[in-house]
Amino acid sequence: MVVANKISGFIAKASWIRKMFEEGELLRQQYGADKVYDFTLGNPDVEPPEAFNQAFLKLAQDPIPGMHRYMNNAGYLETRAAVAKSLSAASDLPVQAGQVVMTCGAGGALNVVLKTILNPGDEVVILVPFFVEYRFYIDNHGGVPVEVWTDPETFQLDIPKIAAAISASTRAIIICSPNNPTGVIYPAESLAALGEMVSAKEQEFGSQICVISDEPYARISYDGKAVPNIFRHVKNSVIVTSHSKDLALPGERIGYLAANPSMKDVDQFMEGAIFSNRVLGFVNAPALMQRLVADLQHESVDMAAYQEKRDLIYNALTEMGFEMVRPDGAFYFFPKSPLPNDVEFVKVAQKHRILLVPGAGFGAPGYFRIAYCVDKGMIERSFDAWRELAKELGLSG
Ligand code: PLP
Repeated sequence: MVVANKISGFIAKASWIRKMFEEGELLRQQYGADKVYDFTLGNPDVEPPEAFNQAFLKLAQDPIPGMHRYMNNAGYLETRAAVAKSLSAASDLPVQAGQVVMTCGAGGALNVVLKTILNPGDEVVILVPFFVEYRFYIDNHGGVPVEVWTDPETFQLDIPKIAAAISASTRAIIICSPNNPTGVIYPAESLAALGEMVSAKEQEFGSQICVISDEPYARISYDGKAVPNIFRHVKNSVIVTSHSKDLALPGERIGYLAANPSMKDVDQFMEGAIFSNRVLGFVNAPALMQRLVADLQHESVDMAAYQEKRDLIYNALTEMGFEMVRPDGAFYFFPKSPLPNDVEFVKVAQKHRILLVPGAGFGAPGYFRIAYCVDKGMIERSFDAWRELAKELGLSG
């Protein structure tokens, strides 16, 4: 077999979203695109802000000589300085350009950080439910994922449980807030408690544990809720993020990693991260995108439109009897599966032409994910089908 056994196994384990996409294509052919309600993909349906188009146009009309050449593997100094300035304001800490590496999205940044810090067999704590790629990214660099459930009712951090999972081999903990797939934001008190617990564990084991804050949704929050900055609460922390969601540029692969200026041996970490960015084959983040996002650090897509969709779905589905946490950010719901088996439930939903991802795809059987970065018209058209689904399952709406 040409494909390694490990990769074949991984493909089989992680094919939910692709499988649903393929099933969706069949249904679209059979019934027509407007009669299929696809809530599977976290691919923003909105366009980037106008400021992005303006910056793009200006650069095309007035190109900078040499702007398509290789550069320092960490990225352009001006862009890193702009990111550092915005992070300094958010954290009240003096983040320097030298503590930022521009990357190929948050996915690229996660891989760079993990490659930089992991020795073979090192453990990385991930919180259930989690972004499905974490397990594979950790494996890429010889690490071992250790899964710890968040509170199954609120999806908030369960600090004692995380503490119990930390050993002398723990090198990192990955958190994600606002969260994919639950939409919850971890409040400042939780991050402070996490910081205290991690410091105590570092002392106990004489180790350094890196809290990796994966936050591509940091600017997508609702009802005026702020997303607390991790640097304020956890000393040995790194932010990995991108403009895939806040500027709706997922295809452009632009993001960054930034280290807490107070991190122990931060210069050594940065040296490792710049090297890892190079040898992972990314070489550097896309040059054109780096130029464009430098001046867009305070721009974002229209949050009101996402909030309207959240309210629309939450109100309609809870009225029908579905149980779910009301998300404070990102663009996902993670409701309880009305059937004990979430895969079965997703199959029943499919009969009603509603496409969802089972919780099993996020390490959390018993739930399912709705992505609402989709057309509002489609959401509204889907409600009759949701109602029939709820009726079939005997939900009390
Ligand atoms: N982390 C989380 C939680 C995500 O949801 C995603 C994408 O959906 C990523 C990382 C990867 O994002 P990027 O497109 O920036 O690589």
